[in-house]
Amino acid sequence: MRLETLAVHAGAAPDAETGALAPPLHLATTFEHAPDGSLPHGLVYQRTDNPTQQRFEQALAALEHGTRALFFGSGMAAGTALLQSLPAGSHVLFPDDAYHGFRALALQYFARWDLRCDFADLSNLDAARAALTPRTVLLWAETPSNPLLKISDIAALAELAHARGARLLVDNTFATPVLQQPLTLGADIVLHSVTKYIGGHSDLMAGALVFGNGMQALAQQAFDARTTVGLHGSPFAAWLALRGLHSLPARMAWHQRNAHAVAMALSAHPKVARVHYPGLPQHPGHALAARQMREFGGMLSFELTGGREAALACAGRLRLFANATSLGGCESLVEHRASVEGAHAVSPPGLLRLSVGLEHPDDLVGDLLQALAD
Ligand SMILES: *Cc1c(COP(=O)(O)O)cnc(C)c1O
Repeated sequence: MRLETLAVHAGAAPDAETGALAPPLHLATTFEHAPDGSLPHGLVYQRTDNPTQQRFEQALAALEHGTRALFFGSGMAAGTALLQSLPAGSHVLFPDDAYHGFRALALQYFARWDLRCDFADLSNLDAARAALTPRTVLLWAETPSNPLLKISDIAALAELAHARGARLLVDNTFATPVLQQPLTLGADIVLHSVTKYIGGHSDLMAGALVFGNGMQALAQQAFDARTTVGLHGSPFAAWLALRGLHSLPARMAWHQRNAHAVAMALSAHPKVARVHYPGLPQHPGHALAARQMREFGGMLSFELTGGREAALACAGRLRLFANATSLGGCESLVEHRASVEGAHAVSPPGLLRLSVGLEHPDDLVGDLLQALAD
């Protein structure tokens, strides 16, 4: 079955009780025990597990070619469950442009949890190798990265990690399983902010982990952390996320087509110093992205020659691109990343990030050209 077909049919078996084609939304917090105290359906309490979430997990595991998926209340909750499952004293190697929430989590909480970390440019294999320590148990990659769209070599990082007895996690939020399947390239764990493209409509908050072969023990620990720490998501979010999965391949094709048109227009503009989009041949990660991704996605960023002031003014003049954080919805968004990142800002001051939505590409390009014209 091809991906588009799988996305429509995964987790979509008719309800056994009623024949309903849309999945039931189970809001129960508690499930009945048998007289002998056993659990006839394996379910006990919503914080531990629930049937709506199980449907989403089975569908996402299928799309990512994983053995088990876990649903969480947010992408941050998914990452936290995994990090809190690592043995005390573990070292984690993050990318230097990791999603700012994980950077803040590592800097503010790792010492309290007796974990260590470093940040390195993981798009550079020598830098990655040099930053590994004997205590490194996890390499944490994000490709394409946020917000510079840097590309890291998943197969090479997996090899590097495995040679040291470590595991490779890939934050696959930007690419989604439609454009990139890290487990098939050698990664051990995939993380998603389901809030973004999988949800796809800017109206749900959720996260997920997907585990590959040989990861049963860590997956079970992350499952236990979800229950004990309370990192679970709501059944309604799981229901919406499953609905989002069905149209994900179609939406990603449209996002990608629009982003390509926007990247081409921006890279020809005299007020634009640099466009960060892996679909452009001049992008340093283009050849690698062409190898490990199916297409290049709907996210890009660009730097204005006029720096911070010009970037803020341009964002203010855009009419179709809403000035807001997040990504992956139907509507196009623009964001001045340095303002959002706050104290730990790593983005260049003149950089704007675009989440290119599902509007017509001519309208999006027209809006950018008028905003750059003044
Ligand atoms: C948004 C995001 C996260 C965090 O997910 P939440 O659902 O907001 O908690 C993690 N990684 C990436 C790449 C993201 O864009």
